Parts: sequence; structure tokens; C-alpha cells
Amino acid sequence: MEALKQRILNDGMALNETVLKVDSFLNHGVDAHLMYNIGTEFKKYFENHGVTKIFTIESSGIAPTVMTAMQMNLPMVTLKKQASKILKGDVYQTTVHSFTKATDYELTLSKKYISEDDHILIIDDFLANGEAALGAIRLVEEAGAKVAGIGIVIEKSFQPGRQLLIDKGYDVYSLARVSKLGEGIIEFIEE
Ligand code: 5GP
Repeated sequence: MEALKQRILNDGMALNETVLKVDSFLNHGVDAHLMYNIGTEFKKYFENHGVTKIFTIESSGIAPTVMTAMQMNLPMVTLKKQASKILKGDVYQTTVHSFTKATDYELTLSKKYISEDDHILIIDDFLANGEAALGAIRLVEEAGAKVAGIGIVIEKSFQPGRQLLIDKGYDVYSLARVSKLGEGIIEFIEE
């Protein structure tokens, strides 16, 4: 997605060789017009995938996902990050390692927001090692539902997440694929 790549080049900042900061339009400040256009792109790609619901992970996945859900006219669910396990039986939970915070959290989904007939599109802001996406997949599959696809705003293609998901047979669609980060360097895979 050209407009997204330009925005990353103009306003993004590589903190080091692995972390990209995009606080001005995605992770802190939110550019609603850009989010809307991101929703249009995800709709174009996923509209014939039989999606019944869209899941995301709090909190930076919410803005692009709500715009996608609105344009695809589908329900949306935000998976919650809890600090500790909930022992009641009305939730699905799985432990996920956070790439940016280097800690673990319990990704949590209330059982009432999924059924085994669902085909879930999972959307997130970044794909790095794939931990967050794999956690979301575990919750969907534990509920007996299917993963219809994975939509990523910014994929860091030099990290293993994408290949891991593709090797497991999931359809991964990323709007910007970063091939290299470094001091003053942001490069994309040309497609
Ligand atoms: P993964 O679980 O694929 O290793 O990492 C993805 C999650 O970590 C995303 O949900 C995102 O919140 C965060 N993340 C990973 N890499 C970056 C990055 O370079 N910049 C920012 N802002 N967040 C990242």
C-alpha cells in the first residue's frame, strides 16, 4: 500500500535494527483517514474469504480493525491482554510473549464472542516473530472456529513471523513489508 509506505518513510523512525516507531499515526496518534484507507485495502483482499468476524489484539490493532469491520460490515472483537490467568470457565486464554515489552501476557477471549461456525480474520498492527498472531490463532482454534486469514498493517519481513504463519498454511496479507531497519534506514520489499 503506497500511501502507507510513504507515511512510514516520512514519519516512522527505526529505533534500532528491529523496532520501528510509528507513534504519530498508528501507535499513539492515530490518523483516521489512513486507518480508513487501510480498512479499504483489507476489505479488497479479504472480502471473498468467507469471513464472519474480525479479531484484533488490544490496543494498537483496534483502529485499523474497526475501519475494516465497518467497511466489511462484520462484527469485531478485541482480544484482551490480561496480566494473569482467569480461572473461570467462560474464557479462552493463552500465554503470549510480547516482542516490544519482553514480558508475557494472557491473551483472553470470552467464549460468548466466538462459535465453531466462525471464520475469523485476525488483524494486527505489526508482525515480528508471530507470537501475537499465533496466540490469536490458538484461541480461535481452541473454540473450534477457523482462521480465514491474517491481515497485518506493517510486517517486518526480516523477522520470522510471516514464514512461520505461511508454513502453517495461513493466508497472510501485509500492507507494508519492511525488509530492513537501521539508523536512518527503512527499506521495503518491492512487490
Ligand atoms: P510478534 O508477536 O509478531 O513478535 O510482534 C507483534 C506485536 O508486537 C504487535 O502486536 C506489536 O504491538 C508489537 N510490535 C512488534 N514489533 C514492533 C515494532 O517494530 N514497532 C511497534 N510499534 N510495535 C511492534
